[in-house]
Amino acid sequence: MIKVQDLQKFRSQLLHPRDKTVARKALITGLTGQDGSYLAEILVAKGYKVFGLVRRSSSDKSDRISHLSNDVQILSGDLLDQCSLMDAIVEAQPDEIYNLASQSYVPTSWTQPALTAEYTALGVSRLLESIRRCKPDARFYQASSSEVFGQPDESPQTERTAFRPRNPYGVAKAYAHWMTVNYRQRYNLYACCGITYTHESPRRGTEFVFRKITRGAAAIKLGLAKELKLGNLDARRDWCYAKDAVYGMWLMLQQEQPDDYIIASGRTYSVRELVECAFSCVSLKWQDYVSVDPAFYRPDEPVQLVGCINKIQTQLDWKPQYSFEQLVELMVEYDLKELRKECGNGVLI
Ligand code: GDP
Repeated sequence: MIKVQDLQKFRSQLLHPRDKTVARKALITGLTGQDGSYLAEILVAKGYKVFGLVRRSSSDKSDRISHLSNDVQILSGDLLDQCSLMDAIVEAQPDEIYNLASQSYVPTSWTQPALTAEYTALGVSRLLESIRRCKPDARFYQASSSEVFGQPDESPQTERTAFRPRNPYGVAKAYAHWMTVNYRQRYNLYACCGITYTHESPRRGTEFVFRKITRGAAAIKLGLAKELKLGNLDARRDWCYAKDAVYGMWLMLQQEQPDDYIIASGRTYSVRELVECAFSCVSLKWQDYVSVDPAFYRPDEPVQLVGCINKIQTQLDWKPQYSFEQLVELMVEYDLKELRKECGNGVLI
């Protein structure tokens, strides 16, 4: 007689991989980064078995994912090493692959342009080729960036706006974008690019201006810092919450047909407005603490990068859940709490 367990096993083998009753498997590169850690949380909550590709490193970078250590299986690998990518894909047998790894800091892309190209551009070639050879039915998400538009001809930008990248990071992302589109067309892979605009969260590094400001305002409020030095206060960005953005990434891989979408808030704010908002959250007058330091100016500021979100809104029913003001408040509150904790533990700021 056939046992119930055997029947269940047999049935699960027959089910289509996208059937919600089978645990789907996902492989994330860049797991330890801001987006990777939020995406892993979403996927684990949805019942996925999650694998994370992590580079070997002498320093521990796992603080963003320490709470997920029991839920995510770490695989060692590197976008610079084709064999390690193929091994990881063969081992995980993922239904979905999210490439969130890159050298993502624009100023570093000028000081290390070749390394940026290796990770951010050629790394995607290696990954696409590994998917084609080892798991061609896996669905692939490539993290494109608004930096591909650089100095765009139009504003807001749409999925059809011409790419005119203005820094090595944007150039590398443009290459990765077009390779993804080409593998979709040439090999029929389910491969999508999400063109994300700047997205922020308490897990963002303090080298980025949003977190630098929320943490700076919190530190000044607590008497731990006296001033905050910034670059161009008139620079404008389309900022949204990283949690909203990664949900859009997941949605893109759940469609009948693969396609490319802009993921953005659809509105811009200046660094000055960000400063005003953050300091008003801690009831301080920003002009008393903020000074401009030319060292933080960018040589090639992109103009009016703002995303048109009509396509993702109408086709995937996605829109940001958090406003700019809510995001600033959420991050200032987080930084106040963290800094109080760090002070309590005797950590110097
Ligand atoms: P990204 O350039 O969008 O990757 O993100 P950043 O957060 O590094 O920079 C956003 C904008 O803030 C850029 O236009 C910068 O020129 C501007 N900015 C102004 N002051 C600062 C600063 O002190 N640090 C950084 N990182 N950016 C600054």
